[in-house]
This record gives sequence, C-alpha cells and structure tokens, in this order.
Amino acid sequence: MTAAYVRLCRSGLVQERIAAARQLLSPCRLCPRQCGVDRLAGERGFCGGGVLAEVASCGPHYGEEDVLVGASGSGTIFFCGCNLRCDFCQNFSLSRCRDDDCQEVSGEQLAAAMLSLQEMGCANINLVTPSHVMPQILAALPVAVAAGLSLPLVYNCGGYESVEALRLLDGIVDVYLPDAKFLRRESAIAHAGAADYPEVLVRALKEMQHQVGDLSIDADGVARRGLLVRHLLMPGAEEEAEEIFALLAREVSSGCYVNIMDQFRPCGEWSGADDAAIDSATHRRALQAAFKAGLRRLARRDSAALLRRLFGA
Ligand code: SF4
Repeated sequence: MTAAYVRLCRSGLVQERIAAARQLLSPCRLCPRQCGVDRLAGERGFCGGGVLAEVASCGPHYGEEDVLVGASGSGTIFFCGCNLRCDFCQNFSLSRCRDDDCQEVSGEQLAAAMLSLQEMGCANINLVTPSHVMPQILAALPVAVAAGLSLPLVYNCGGYESVEALRLLDGIVDVYLPDAKFLRRESAIAHAGAADYPEVLVRALKEMQHQVGDLSIDADGVARRGLLVRHLLMPGAEEEAEEIFALLAREVSSGCYVNIMDQFRPCGEWSGADDAAIDSATHRRALQAAFKAGLRRLARRDSAALLRRLFGA
C-alpha cells in the first residue's frame, strides 16, 4: 500500500500545504499557544522552535507499541522543543532545547534522516514531538519522496494541536499517535500551563479520527493507518483516566486503539518524588475501567516477541 503522502508529493499538491504551513509560522499560530512570534525572522515562542527544526537523535526504537515496532524497529526522529513542556517530561532536556545533542537540520538533512531509517528496515517514520516543527517536516517530504521514501508516517504528538494545522496533514500522516494527557483543566494548568488542553484535545482527536479512522494493522501485525491514542497514567489521577477512556469511547470511537501506559517515573520537575509511580494494581484497574467504558482495543506488550526481535532469542 502506497503511503498517502507519496501520492500528494508526486502530484505536486503538497506544495500548497507547505506554503500554507509556512505561513502559520509568521506570526506563529501553528499551535493553540498562538504565541504570535515571527518564527521566520528567528524569534522563538513557548516551544523554543525557530526557523529550522532541531533534532536530537534518529534511529530504530523498540520501546514503542508492538504495532509500531515491527521486525526492525520504529524509525524515530526526536525533535527538540515542545509546545507543551510538561513538568514531568521524560525527555525534559529535549523539550527545553537544553540537550547538547540538539542540532538544527535543513530540509535536506531531515529528508536524509528519514531515508536512512527506511534503509535500516524500520517499520515507519516516527516523528516524535513534531507539532511545533510541522512546516519544516512537510517541506522535507518532497525531497525524501523524490529519493524513494515510502514508509508510513507516524505523528507522535502531545495532543495539543490546532485543527487548522492538522487539516494541512490530511492525506500526509498515516498514523496519528497523540497523547491524551489530561481532561481536567486543573491538571492541564498544573502540569503544562495549558488551560485549554481538554477542549483542544477533544477537537484534535475528532479531526484525527476523521482523517485516518480506527487503526488498521496488516498481516504482519504492523500499523498501516489510523489513530492510536496513548494515555500515561499519572499518580493520583485514576478518576481522570476513567474520564479520558469514556471520552475516547463516546466521542472518538469504541474501536479506538489505546495504549494505557504505566511507565510514569519522576522526571523533570518531579525528579526525586519517591512516591510518584504507578503500581501494577493501578494499571490493572485502569485497563478494567477502559474496558468498562467500551474500549476493546487496548495495547499489550509482548515482551517475549520484543526479546526475539532484539536478540533473536
Ligand atoms: S508552535 Fe511554538 S511559537 Fe508557535 S504558537 Fe506554538 S508554542 Fe508558540
């Protein structure tokens, strides 16, 4: 199956999207923060993003959901900066652009990174924290497609997306992989300073579902197209998690593929908070709550399969 963006690039229609996306950078209204800075003139807003995208690392990743990893890993490109900058972020130095590995990349370099992941046999191109550099990613695509890129594109984002920006990705993104972090305003303010996160999230999820539908998985167990939602369980937020599951089943789709993650660990501004962890009983209760809410497609980790992939065991 040819990835949708390949057809758009070959037809040339992607150029209109690239131009429209670039316009969103000046003044910057690319995401719901609406900072209004002139990114094209080198100004930086809340996310820290500038004219060029910054990348910290690029390579096959085996820690993603089984349906994204395939036989040879998900081809991750980790972008620096973030439009959410949660206080518990596991990639704190990247989201703050403070990591020594953060390097500005041109469109050609970004395209070369995508192609190198394809050459390594990765299952997809997994764009990690892409929202604030969406125009730069878009601009790299025709270069990559002209050189043979054809892997599915995974948009691995925080869920704080403007519908205007998402519409420019219709027919470009194959798999949307948003977080559904909070549904309570007080949580969104406390952790990300984004009071409107709940309503922004709902609109974004509906748009993503409208574009790509429920997740479709091929005969090899690899995701080809659709929506995969992540929810990271937070200490003391079991009820909010249940509200999120109910929302997904009711407002998005009962066929929504959901990964309920238990790997919260104290990072960022939470570093040193010893009691901040999710135990197995909490995770089990969350899975039951999601099932009760009507969700039937819950991601499970096949550890044995992961070991076989990593070590041929
Ligand atoms: S992408 Fe960055 S600069 Fe633009 S509105 Fe969002 S946070 Fe502000």
